[in-house]
Amino acid sequence: MAVDSILSSPLGPPACEKDAKALQFIEEMTRNADSVQENVLSQILSRNAQTEYLQRYNLNGATDRETFKSKIPMVTYEDLQPLIQRIANGDRSPILSAHPVSEFLTSSGTSAGERKLMPTIKEELDRRQLLYSLLMPVMNLYVKGLDKGKGLYFLFIKSETQTPGGLLARPVLTSYYKSDHFKTRPYDPYNVYTSPNEAILCPDSFQSMYTQMLCGLYERKQVLRVGAVFASGLLRAIRFLQLNWQQLAEDIRTGSLNPKVTDQSIRECMTRVVRPDPELADFIAKECSKDNWERIITRIWPNTKYLDVIVTGAMAQYIPTLDYYSGGLPKACTMYASSECYFGLNLNPMCKPSEVSYTIMPNMAYFEFLPHEPNSTGSTRDSPPGLVDLADVEIGKEYELVITTYAGLCRYRVGDILRVTGFHNSAPQFQFVRRKNVLLSIDSDKTDEAELQAAVENASRLLREFNTSVVEYTSYADTKTIPGHYVIYWELLGKDSGNSPSDQVLEQCCLAMEESLNSVYRQCRVADNSIGPLEIRVVRNGTFEELMDYAISRGASINQYKVPRCVSFTPIMELLDSRVVSSHFSPSLPQWTPERRR
Ligand code: AMP
Repeated sequence: MAVDSILSSPLGPPACEKDAKALQFIEEMTRNADSVQENVLSQILSRNAQTEYLQRYNLNGATDRETFKSKIPMVTYEDLQPLIQRIANGDRSPILSAHPVSEFLTSSGTSAGERKLMPTIKEELDRRQLLYSLLMPVMNLYVKGLDKGKGLYFLFIKSETQTPGGLLARPVLTSYYKSDHFKTRPYDPYNVYTSPNEAILCPDSFQSMYTQMLCGLYERKQVLRVGAVFASGLLRAIRFLQLNWQQLAEDIRTGSLNPKVTDQSIRECMTRVVRPDPELADFIAKECSKDNWERIITRIWPNTKYLDVIVTGAMAQYIPTLDYYSGGLPKACTMYASSECYFGLNLNPMCKPSEVSYTIMPNMAYFEFLPHEPNSTGSTRDSPPGLVDLADVEIGKEYELVITTYAGLCRYRVGDILRVTGFHNSAPQFQFVRRKNVLLSIDSDKTDEAELQAAVENASRLLREFNTSVVEYTSYADTKTIPGHYVIYWELLGKDSGNSPSDQVLEQCCLAMEESLNSVYRQCRVADNSIGPLEIRVVRNGTFEELMDYAISRGASINQYKVPRCVSFTPIMELLDSRVVSSHFSPSLPQWTPERRR
């Protein structure tokens, strides 16, 4: 590539020739967003023309937007579930996609309490890889010298299962880390990790984390960025250091490896890393034994320029804690993705979390947008459900994301609400507003109102023999401690004061709630240890009436007042907490086993 074209990227001067190509690709895609989208749709429709799904809608070979929009309905996971189940059961006919389904990706979204299964095809890995390959070239525009050191990233795989038809079902990142795309990635000086693949790929989360932390400590001076996928993951790593620094320092002092790390491939690769370094061990012991862990990240990894973690959406609740541990280092939210499809990237990754906007890459899938404002109509290429095309969204408006993917999802509602903040060339940029119907989230768990209601009902059965019922409840995601946990406020009505439920019964109520929450919640509790025991705080009688009085004093309508099923506003929390008469924690772990797919 000629030097002048390297210098000519409108995003800024690229760090190297490889970056120049990536930036040029972003420019091409975003300049031609609408025509790229048209081509993507036409490719998807022509290659999947013979699938059972598209045949249903009599497209008769048409691949244009108008026919597509007039004939294909918008759907949810539940609409597709019977077809997905057939694929899972082993039906190899082209149901959704003409290309063979290579595996299922298990989404953190749930349906009937179980993880959603997203069929995927082999080439989608290339598309994901392509999006990953754009991240560092953009980052290099804002942070110089990242080729002079390494990234300490805490990356993990999770358990995988097989469907009855023999296909693997696992989270998208597990699929990616286990792929050759990741394992045999070419050396890139701008993207060197301290964590060896052997540690990332170890299914035991303790051994994996321990090894990744140990490597990060050995290379503390080389580390230029510290990250995990989500903010909750990085905080879990800090908590891990709090609990394990003595053993880690001991290993560093003696040049040995904790015998709890039994994984053979880890032990083998760590022979190249471990060495006695008493000075480093002393340093770690000195820093970690202090009561005050403020700025621990920059104390241990003094050359860290930024944290690479997603802090948008539900993860925004962790910003103050990350700031505390890092002395307010920039927090880069680099990409926006899901199991169904990787969507786009942040072209200004060093911006403040409140300003993060993701540019959807038009080559990844065909994107449509359902206006979120109740009375809004669509725009130019309007169609019955009022879906708007990528290039036609309007700044300031909110939309729900609807995707049509190469893997065969057609007009599928992702469930994310996005707000348009601007454009890069002709590609819109979106702020992630929220996920629909999510009340509580600590890690990758997502609990909606119906699930919470069912859990409360389930638990309150234990109160019947005490003639006691739950008259009102609300909830709160408490992330002040790591791991965070669900707090459920209960106002109880007991009709028999001589027979009120004991502490032990209320503890069992906590466990009963956990047992009825979805499998992602229970996996976080049991396998990942990323959510702490659920807590019930019993509040004094009349508290919820006071809550209503407070809301009305702030302008809520008496007629329309509904008890909020989740609270986070400080004065409300203070009111609730000042009325707590007792608090109870789940005494043990709920049931969780890797899902068997029926
Ligand atoms: P999963 O399918 O389990 O990978 O979850 C995907 C969902 O995670 C998305 O639909 C979003 O709701 C959420 N998500 C992914 N990336 C981001 C991001 N950068 N900011 C906020 N939420 C995100």
